[in-house]
Amino acid sequence: MIIVMSTKAGDTEVQKVVDLLEGRGYGHHISRGVERTLIGAIGTPDGEKRTLAEQLMTMQGVERVVPIVRSYKLVSREHQEQTSVVYIGSAPFGRGNIGMIAGPCAIESAEQTVTAAKAVKDAGATVLRGGAFKPRTSPYDFQGLGEEGLKILAEAGRQTDLPTVTEAREARHIDLVARYADAIQIGARNMQNYDLLQAAGETGLPIILKRGLSATVEEWLKAAEYVASVGNLNIILCERGIRTFETITRFTLDLAGMVAAKNETHLPIIVDPSHSTGHHSLVAPMTLAALASGADGVMIEVHPHPDRALCDSLQQLTPRNFTRLMDRVRDLSSAMGLQLGNTAREA
Ligand code: PEP
Ligand code: MN
Repeated sequence: MIIVMSTKAGDTEVQKVVDLLEGRGYGHHISRGVERTLIGAIGTPDGEKRTLAEQLMTMQGVERVVPIVRSYKLVSREHQEQTSVVYIGSAPFGRGNIGMIAGPCAIESAEQTVTAAKAVKDAGATVLRGGAFKPRTSPYDFQGLGEEGLKILAEAGRQTDLPTVTEAREARHIDLVARYADAIQIGARNMQNYDLLQAAGETGLPIILKRGLSATVEEWLKAAEYVASVGNLNIILCERGIRTFETITRFTLDLAGMVAAKNETHLPIIVDPSHSTGHHSLVAPMTLAALASGADGVMIEVHPHPDRALCDSLQQLTPRNFTRLMDRVRDLSSAMGLQLGNTAREA
């Protein structure tokens, strides 16, 4: 909270406020303006804000007490300092655990999905992805196989012993998706679909919440708060690139925004180097950059034959290139002391 001193308040009144804050165990920061002095109280727990504010209001020289309310609470580092570990099946994300999500953009057939699943599993992926309900920009493009696709994904996950994640595009798909997948993805275009966020949150499943195409970090965190507000803190945020004036890449990967978001929230954050760049040649460097900057994992599109893919063919990696990238990810992880791979769930 901020304590606004009156224009007439002198050093003695300021000191008395500081003494009170120190006596109650709070830090403070004084900002002396030309007209008045502002004192920031640092570290006030939620439960004590009201009584402290009331006490300060009675003091000589205090004009106003302004609470600083963040509109995201449960997901903030103020609420929980330590980074959360969120599991998708046996795959941990956060606090030094790197999750590697890989698989095709869309589930096209059993053969394509199982081939991709086996390849990414062999290379060291920890979660299998694949879209059954695709959010396509054009209504004439391949929209996904729907429930048939969910069945294929679940079977590919079973055969490879990989947990799965897939997108739910509408609230009415949530129950269906929850029946087949281990985690629900909320796509960039739906980041501010609050009914969908709450319905997904209510399943209790882990939620991957992608950043909206034009969403600020603050809007993204407030969207996560919608999921948290229904009692589900199993949230993994995903930076997937934002719209800027630049068109040489599909979107602009906002790694600084990812790091800034990590300073604000205890939730693990992953990066999607496939959709953010739109080109397979940029996926490996951006994966390494993301992990080097502190991302808790990545989500990468891998297709057995990218040239034949029904969507996003330019950005999907071949199994061979994904395997090569994983070798580099392993080197980077060991240099940085990060854990790769699935583990038993922490108590
Ligand atoms: C996806 O991951 O399949 C996808 C469509 O991504 P985004 O929502 O980030 O565009
Ligand atoms: Mn895609």
